[in-house]
Amino acid sequence: MSKTGNSRSATDSLFFRFSFFDFYYVIFFIIYYIMKIKNGTRYELNGWTYLSIRGNPSERGYAHGYMIAKELNDIFKMLDFNYYEDYGYSREIFSEIVGTIWGPIIQANYPELYEEIEGIKKGANAGGCKISMDDIIMWNCYVSVDSLFSVVPTICKNYPVLQEKYGHLFNEDSGSGTGHGEGGSSYRANGGDDHCTGFMAVGSYTKDGKIICGHNTFDNFMTGQHFKYILDINPSKGARILMQTAPGNISSETDFYVTSNGIMCTETTIGGFNKFELKDPIACRIRTAMQYGKTLDEIKDFLVTNNSGDYANAWLVGDTKNNIIMRVELGLKYVNVEKKKDGCFIGFNGVYDPRIRNLECSNVGHFDIRRHQGARHVRLTQLMEQHKGKIDIKIAEEIMADHYDIYLNKINPSSRTCCSHYELDDRAFMSDPGRPKPFQPRGALDGKVCDTTLCKKMGFRARWGSSCGTPFNKTEFCKNNIIWADQEPYLYDRPNEPWTEFTIYKGKMNNDKNITKKKKKREMQMKKTKKSKLNM
Ligand SMILES: [Zn+2]
Repeated sequence: MSKTGNSRSATDSLFFRFSFFDFYYVIFFIIYYIMKIKNGTRYELNGWTYLSIRGNPSERGYAHGYMIAKELNDIFKMLDFNYYEDYGYSREIFSEIVGTIWGPIIQANYPELYEEIEGIKKGANAGGCKISMDDIIMWNCYVSVDSLFSVVPTICKNYPVLQEKYGHLFNEDSGSGTGHGEGGSSYRANGGDDHCTGFMAVGSYTKDGKIICGHNTFDNFMTGQHFKYILDINPSKGARILMQTAPGNISSETDFYVTSNGIMCTETTIGGFNKFELKDPIACRIRTAMQYGKTLDEIKDFLVTNNSGDYANAWLVGDTKNNIIMRVELGLKYVNVEKKKDGCFIGFNGVYDPRIRNLECSNVGHFDIRRHQGARHVRLTQLMEQHKGKIDIKIAEEIMADHYDIYLNKINPSSRTCCSHYELDDRAFMSDPGRPKPFQPRGALDGKVCDTTLCKKMGFRARWGSSCGTPFNKTEFCKNNIIWADQEPYLYDRPNEPWTEFTIYKGKMNNDKNITKKKKKREMQMKKTKKSKLNM
């Protein structure tokens, strides 16, 4: 594919605007990159891997697992390194504890999703990735692991096997959760992790008066770089879902969704959140909300019911059927719900509700413009007002790629900008040891935007690498930042890629031929039976 265009849809890329070379690449693409299996298809485009799965939970899970087995192997190699490096405990311990605690809860409360996860495991095993159920449950709860581990010393007492094996490893000095700090390295640090920039607008803020949203994921590159998958889930029950995710996940985790109920949904995390109570993991609550939530209230209820406080977020949800947007600041004890027919919500890892901010968080940067929360709080407010009445998909893309640093009053891609670049930031104004370090390989890894028109055809636009297109070269980066060189074997390059439109898959899958053949055979058989009955 030509990478020179800044804006090209998947359909455009494949079928229109041909040059000779485009044609050559299309043929190459079709022959080498479209994988079709029973209930699943996969292809690569502009840095993304697109997967479509369908059927009952086992069928779609198996197709999913089989198609991503190789990448899942790579992810577990990275996790082995990452967990040991960050915690000093082996990754297997995390798998066993998370699987033992959350496995039975998922099986009891979300049997459909448990069956899908089981299908992913079986498919991955068949494709050559020898992961266990504990492993895949842990990976699905990855964003919640820190929250859970903050109370492991207390919880382990209820699980004799875990207590005997691992009870001695954790000190019982924390009765309530203390998820890991911004930049994330320790569940004992400064409260919940900070990820992402986002907004959702409607009414007088947007060009057509309808809903528009934008989001970019910022994360440590080593883990965040695996979220380059667009997954189309066509389940036998409930709504169809198109989302960004990583291989083997039943939920998005970076949280960018559109559903066939006309819903678009995203979030940014609540930084510094430190409460936890063992109930259901967020992966299951949000996935159920997307699959079965038809209204904003239903979606809110799915998020709130059995809330563990894990991966606490400010959720932004748009109902395109009624042109209403909703923000759910989801603390543990406190939940703040607001809806607008005219207005906007911005997401910057802060929380407006003073109860959540003061009683359930620590070390927040809500009013500190030296920090990324406060700086984007201001910048996103400015951008919403600057573009009021004009926000369309193009402007949404520009907002996600914004590099204006309001603390230094200049263009300065850094930890404080909407398009986050910790990897370029010397962190001169921060010295808190719980915070990301200078030039940490961390920042925005993508950009996604959606408007009502795209949502109604179940699509969104996405850019892999970063919202602004700045490439990342791991060799060059590690050469210039020797302090991070240990990560080089686990880092990937991210070249400049164009914004690309993705929608749900409308083509055939491998078993469609068999279905047609079987159907024809059945019809022939019925005709024969009818004929023979008439002849009798
Ligand atoms: Zn940027």
